[in-house]
Amino acid sequence: MKLGFSTLALFMKSLEEMLKIASKDGFQLIEILCEGPYWPRRLLENKSFIESLESYDVELFLHAPTIDLNPASINQGIREETKKQTMETIELAYNIGATTITTHPGLIHRKEERIRNMALEFAKETLKDCSIYAEDLGVKLSIENMPGRYSYLCNNPREHEEFIKACECSATVDIGHANTTGDLENFFKIENIAYYHINDNNGKKDEHLPVGEGNLNLKLLKNVKKGIIELNNYENVLKSKSRIKKLIEKL
Ligand SMILES: [Zn+2]
Repeated sequence: MKLGFSTLALFMKSLEEMLKIASKDGFQLIEILCEGPYWPRRLLENKSFIESLESYDVELFLHAPTIDLNPASINQGIREETKKQTMETIELAYNIGATTITTHPGLIHRKEERIRNMALEFAKETLKDCSIYAEDLGVKLSIENMPGRYSYLCNNPREHEEFIKACECSATVDIGHANTTGDLENFFKIENIAYYHINDNNGKKDEHLPVGEGNLNLKLLKNVKKGIIELNNYENVLKSKSRIKKLIEKL
């Protein structure tokens, strides 16, 4: 299993520092959370940032900005802005040699099936355009499953699989999100999984606990080929890494 972590754990450090830490601690992957100081539109203007990344032997993934964006929005302007920012993230990936961009499928706050279905169609339309753009640039767009709540799209394995097929893209399976749906195992059967987000919880809420501190069925981790540990504290990332390594040796 190749392991990495989300830069969420080291937020506000420079990317160069984070890459140094990743290499030193033996990680093969890193996922850059493109929010705040790592907002793609700003980074695309920064040539020295792009050049600084060339000397590291760590596979780069990007997590597109999702805060306040929504590809499923009923509002056309929000969908257009979401598409624009997702495409900018794809351009950034192309420029820095990142292989895969993960984004969210969106959400809808009205508890009405008809509206939710409409939002699903909007989201597929928005993200399929992004997926085609990614393919043109030789990078991969991957859509993440969400926690098991009605308002989130891709909140179960069937909807997640249908969604990625419609968008012609890959899947990022967030194991913590999947654990809140009561149907964790079926997420591992989805075709075309690019990589996993690894974190633990009690099976009800999305808690982003270190591995082994919730009720996640850890045996399932043997299916993971590429995993990004997604926690907001680097000590917990290291703790999770050593637990995963021990576990894999035993399985
Ligand atoms: Zn995410």
